[in-house]
Amino acid sequence: MFVFGQDLMEDSVVWSDEEMAICLDNNRPAMRANARVHYNDVDGFFRKPAIRVGDHEGGFHGLEGSHFMAYVDDLRSGAEVQDDAFHHGDEMVLQAEIGSESEYRRHRLINWKQPHVSRFYFDHNATTPVLPSVADEMRSAALEVWGNPSSIHQDGQRARHSVEKARHQVATLLGATAKEIVFTSGGTESNNLAIQGVATAARQHIVASVVEHPSVLQTFSQMERQGVEATYLAVSRDGVVGTEYLSRLVKATTVLMSVMHANNETGAIQPVAEIAEFARSRGIVVHCDGVQAAGRIPVDVASLGVDLYSISGHKLYAPKGCGALYVRKGTVLKPLQYGGRHEQGFRPGTENVPGIVAMGAAAEIAARDVAVESVRVGALRDRLEAGLLASIPDTAVNGPAVRTPNTTNIRFDGIDGEAMVIALDLKGFAVSTGAACSSGAVEPSHVLLAMGLTREQAKSSIRFSLGRSNDEAQVDALIAAAAECAGRLRRLSPTYAHA
Ligand code: PLP
Repeated sequence: MFVFGQDLMEDSVVWSDEEMAICLDNNRPAMRANARVHYNDVDGFFRKPAIRVGDHEGGFHGLEGSHFMAYVDDLRSGAEVQDDAFHHGDEMVLQAEIGSESEYRRHRLINWKQPHVSRFYFDHNATTPVLPSVADEMRSAALEVWGNPSSIHQDGQRARHSVEKARHQVATLLGATAKEIVFTSGGTESNNLAIQGVATAARQHIVASVVEHPSVLQTFSQMERQGVEATYLAVSRDGVVGTEYLSRLVKATTVLMSVMHANNETGAIQPVAEIAEFARSRGIVVHCDGVQAAGRIPVDVASLGVDLYSISGHKLYAPKGCGALYVRKGTVLKPLQYGGRHEQGFRPGTENVPGIVAMGAAAEIAARDVAVESVRVGALRDRLEAGLLASIPDTAVNGPAVRTPNTTNIRFDGIDGEAMVIALDLKGFAVSTGAACSSGAVEPSHVLLAMGLTREQAKSSIRFSLGRSNDEAQVDALIAAAAECAGRLRRLSPTYAHA
């Protein structure tokens, strides 16, 4: 069975500079390997995950020692899982059962057995809590600005005014002009619009990195099925996209390069400006998935030099279901749907006014606070990282030094990452793995595999992503809890070499 990433590694797509040069100089197997990332297989492979948590409720407190994570549900519960299993893999494996009865029962059980456990959220790359002031604005918009922004009467025009105010707020966050902002339903739609809107004909060539989010990779895969040719850029062992060989990758038919600003699993900040400079000088459109960057680091689309930039409301303390795509003035983009002139025709459909208002409010706060908050959160992340590495032996950071300040991805040798997530969850800490649970097994993160980690190493990795609600006391409590859980899980681990 094809496993994304692992296969790439076998074909030495994770390369040093020399390896890359050799790959290119010989018969370009790396690019071929990259190009044969077939998400048909991955789709099918990932579509059945669901952990049968309910079956193990009786032994829940002994769960770290059980084979808890080994159980997966049958096709019935698989069907309950959203199709995009990569999303689940990206966020947290337990999402496989969110909404199901057994998930509900599990949480009832936790509440009953552990009524006083405080919850601390360290999974801000999955989603962020809506800020109260953002929720207030959204509520007011829903109740008071309910007109259709396309209507010419006053009720409509009030709604139009709210939408345009939000457009300015989002534009300010990105260093764009308001006219360059197109509201969408979120990061996935923005990425789809950017990619499908540029690559419109068979035999065109498009380029992305292997560590992109599934909303990019699976869109590329779909484009490939339609006859578009795709090449995937490899990453270094730190997870950073290599730029040395760009000129040898592009073709006369290359129309798009898509490279994310910050990786959702490692926080790695990619050399977007360099790639954009290269691409634009050749007339190639540059798309950047900025979902994990906007609000976490300062973003200026002009200095990045990109043509298209995706953001998502729910990573910015706004609700789910709202996002935006920056479309540089003059960029030719075909809409995904038809039915009106909304959003300059790029995204027809009556606007989600409350969501857009919320996103504007969140963008304004992010723009105001990003400089200070990124330093504060960065110090907390460093404290967490240093504390975990110092108090737990055989741990290592997956990722480069230059990362989004809120993210650290840590490998705990000999520990099953999913068991660690659940153990920490029981102690009140929300963290995640990059793994995806499928076909009866937990599949490691494609990002970590692309960085050269073994499957075991990738499966023993945990992503901690911090945000506004975290403070030093929570970080210290998390370090202590993680040390205790790691010690317990390792004592039970058959693979960990005990000293
Ligand atoms: N791109 C990246 C890097 C992400 O992390 C995510 C979500 O996790 C998305 C895109 C998709 O965004 P949304 O959930 O708004 O569709």
